[in-house]
Amino acid sequence: MFDKFKDECGVFGIKGHEEAANLTYLGLYSLQHRGQESAGIVSHRDGNLNSYRRMGLVADIFKESNIRDLEGDAAVGHVRYSTAGSSKPENAQPILITCQHGQIAISHNGNLVNADAVRKRLEKLGSIFNTDSDSEVILHLIARSTKVQVEDAIIEALSQVEGAYSCVFLTKDKLIAVRDPHGFRPLALGNLGEATLFASETCAFDLMDGTFEREIEPGEMMVVSSLGLRKTLKPFEPKPTRQCVFEHIYFSRPDGYMFGESVQGFRERLGAKLADEAGIDADLVVPVPDSGVCAAIGYSQQSNIPFSFGLIRNHYVGRTFIEPKQAIRHFGVKVKLNPVRRLIKDQRIILVDDSLVRGTTSRKIIKMVRNAGAREVHMCISAPPSTHPCFYGIDTPTRQELIASSHTIDEIRKYIGADSLHYISLDGMFSCLEGSKTEDYCEACFTGNYIIPFPKQKGVEV
Ligand code: AMP
Repeated sequence: MFDKFKDECGVFGIKGHEEAANLTYLGLYSLQHRGQESAGIVSHRDGNLNSYRRMGLVADIFKESNIRDLEGDAAVGHVRYSTAGSSKPENAQPILITCQHGQIAISHNGNLVNADAVRKRLEKLGSIFNTDSDSEVILHLIARSTKVQVEDAIIEALSQVEGAYSCVFLTKDKLIAVRDPHGFRPLALGNLGEATLFASETCAFDLMDGTFEREIEPGEMMVVSSLGLRKTLKPFEPKPTRQCVFEHIYFSRPDGYMFGESVQGFRERLGAKLADEAGIDADLVVPVPDSGVCAAIGYSQQSNIPFSFGLIRNHYVGRTFIEPKQAIRHFGVKVKLNPVRRLIKDQRIILVDDSLVRGTTSRKIIKMVRNAGAREVHMCISAPPSTHPCFYGIDTPTRQELIASSHTIDEIRKYIGADSLHYISLDGMFSCLEGSKTEDYCEACFTGNYIIPFPKQKGVEV
């Protein structure tokens, strides 16, 4: 049941470039961290949209011949990760349909909170769904709209859904980008000469030597025509901005700019703030790679405690978090990380990671570091305690599985086997923002303040 709400994704769109599919491939390549389960591209050539989507990593899915088959002047792409429950090829995106508005492809990042309710309503009216993804609900609503212009049909459809959506749509003559009124998930605008680019993260532009122009604003829709003309609309009722703070903490690549901040800069400041708040005396700051690296650098600079890579990561193993079974996840930590004995032996170690979810990773790592001879191990987390699941697009387990939802900090410390455990405070976290405002963020995963209430359903306890 819960699985359906775990959708992490990356989206990309391009219009006005003869190598649109190839550049989309590159864009997806740089967004691979946002989803490793499936990927796809839909491109436009001579009035037709063509699709190729498969399960797997971008580099494995697309061969040169696939990209050649997708030649054209506009394209949208998608990378997706969801849990085993909905792991099937039909759910891969972009989803391409044909309806009264012609062919439309959607790449969607985020979760719709009322998708089930809308879907049931549409099914009663005779709609047939091919996937169990929220995104198809949007397409059905577009297909039913009697508006003449496709952008008006999209507006009518999106006005009926609630939740998180950063989407790019492709039709035979338009590329349309839209971000929900709360702006939960990111979406950036860029260009490559005359071509317009959209991407979840700015690193996608960097790879192709594109230029980042600005972020699509919460509630904004941008329509790019065949001639490359851009039209900006604000078609929705304005709502308070609630950008996802966890994008900054963990999910996004640090080499990007998002929600008015450098991701790397924010993470380093989190580490520095954490150093002030924790005030631990120790010999060495060691990041949990790669998620803890930026914060550990900030921690070390602020505390004047030396930094070193005391844990080495095997980069050829998938993220431990995506393993489907508990038993494999435990095993996965060992496969993925190995301590450098020479650095750790007899030392008082400060381990820095970005978050502690179930606690199983930290527990394994601390044991590993102790076995390597550490005298003391202090665990520092550059986020506040994760107490509530996300319903807007970050993969988090159920509330019961989030260790901080039911245990005190000292109980968690004992469970993970640390000498001390420190989380950054909520205020401390927000004091690290430089280019954006606290009230513009969603921090429901730390507080349970859900701006869009989630309908209580069996098996889902908020
Ligand atoms: P856990 O063992 O459940 O406490 O997992 C903690 C580790 O999971 C940390 O190293 C985090 O960087 C990582 N993590 C946190 N949130 C996510 C997420 N949504 N997807 C994948 N990994 C995550």
